[in-house]
Amino acid sequence: MHQDLQLFSDLCDFLFEEEKNNPVAQPLPTNELFHKLDLSLNKDGVIDSDLKASLKSIIEFTPKTASRSFFNQLFGGRLGKAALGDLLSVMLNNSMYTYKVAGPQVGVEKEIIKQICQLSGYPENSGGTMAPGGSMTNFMALLMARDSKFPSIRTQGITQKVTLYTSDASHYSTAKNAALSGIGRQNVRLINTNHKGEMDVEHLEQTIKEDLNNGYEPFFVNATAGTTVLGAFDDVLAISQVCKTYNLWLHVDGAYCGSVIFSDNYKHLVNGIEHTDSFSVNAHKMLGTPLSCSIIITKNKAHLHNSFSNDAEYLYQTEGDDFNLGKTSLQCGRRNDALKLWTLWKSVGTNGLREIVEHQFELAQFARDYIKSNPDYSLHSFEDSISVCFNYKDIPASALCTLLYEDAKLMVGFGKFNDKEFVRMVTINTVLRKEDIINFFKTIETYVAKNMLKNIAS
Ligand SMILES: *Cc1c(COP(=O)(O)O)cnc(C)c1O
Repeated sequence: MHQDLQLFSDLCDFLFEEEKNNPVAQPLPTNELFHKLDLSLNKDGVIDSDLKASLKSIIEFTPKTASRSFFNQLFGGRLGKAALGDLLSVMLNNSMYTYKVAGPQVGVEKEIIKQICQLSGYPENSGGTMAPGGSMTNFMALLMARDSKFPSIRTQGITQKVTLYTSDASHYSTAKNAALSGIGRQNVRLINTNHKGEMDVEHLEQTIKEDLNNGYEPFFVNATAGTTVLGAFDDVLAISQVCKTYNLWLHVDGAYCGSVIFSDNYKHLVNGIEHTDSFSVNAHKMLGTPLSCSIIITKNKAHLHNSFSNDAEYLYQTEGDDFNLGKTSLQCGRRNDALKLWTLWKSVGTNGLREIVEHQFELAQFARDYIKSNPDYSLHSFEDSISVCFNYKDIPASALCTLLYEDAKLMVGFGKFNDKEFVRMVTINTVLRKEDIINFFKTIETYVAKNMLKNIAS
């Protein structure tokens, strides 16, 4: 193992050099992938030096998500302590289902859940768990909501005409999860959004009323803290009042920006969060831990047991349910996703997490100021969002982003809202500083001046 750790360390050094010198890896067209790289698996193994060479070439062409040119997704960067915690969980290799096999790691996860419940204003008997990503924590919320309103579904399957509500700017996982849970995509009501991409609460209530009149049984509303494209925040407080009136489960999908609970300056964006039934947040997005680290909390931990516990004598042989986390999780064997967040949190404190969150808003404001002060740009996103959406010189955003990627200049994506397409740059990457934001815009401007205008015109 010591030899392998040395090899690992050498490969990391190579990766760090690549991130610095080639921050955007040259993309390999898929039809060249298996020719250019030796990805073959063969009958005989290879010696370490050959293995190292193979891994180095794979690293060379792998997109660099921790580089200062990565603005593409809702994650990015690398925080040393979080990576350390994750590496340690690989070495320890526990499974989180029982106290017997995970020991103190159970406590590590429970402490995280407890703190997030407190930050969200949840009561004493709240609880939570972790799952492989925000789509899955949203799925868990939907299942808890379904089972709490219609307990018979767990045994008899679905017979009712049930409906759920989410905005037309929300993440696609809600529709997918409706299909997975047997509720059906057709029973998802997409609620209109206002010009800022926030759920129209009047339309929500009106749609619920119509469904009730038509004999449906509404049960679930998904609100979003940080919509995937614009980074908008639905009005949780107003939505919670509607949910109370009609007795509906309210979940807040905070996969992208739920981490605002760590900041006194920004937690007003999820005002009313204490009135929700469940809330999910991805630490691998704003908090910058490695993928994946997704947390769901629910106001009454009994809901977790009701939906996810199953007796299994061969598994649960010691301790009470509270410490056998398998009784409240979606999976059986479960990776330790807690230790990376715990290690980071322990190291920087809650104040450090607050700084990580606020820095992203400051960078986004800096980027918006840059855009507003330059008439070649038009801005399409709003204050209090870490998605900065814009167009440059009316160049089609999809073409611009693809060219920048193919020429290995920048990794940035595009999005659409109300039929307008734009570049979406995200300031979530934890290694970014103000100079990287300036460099981002300068790279686009230089690139366009050099090549683009010609290309687009032709
Ligand atoms: C990213 C995201 C998700 C999905 O999270 P994964 O961890 O990628 O599964 C869900 N909702 C929103 C709003 C997101 O931004």
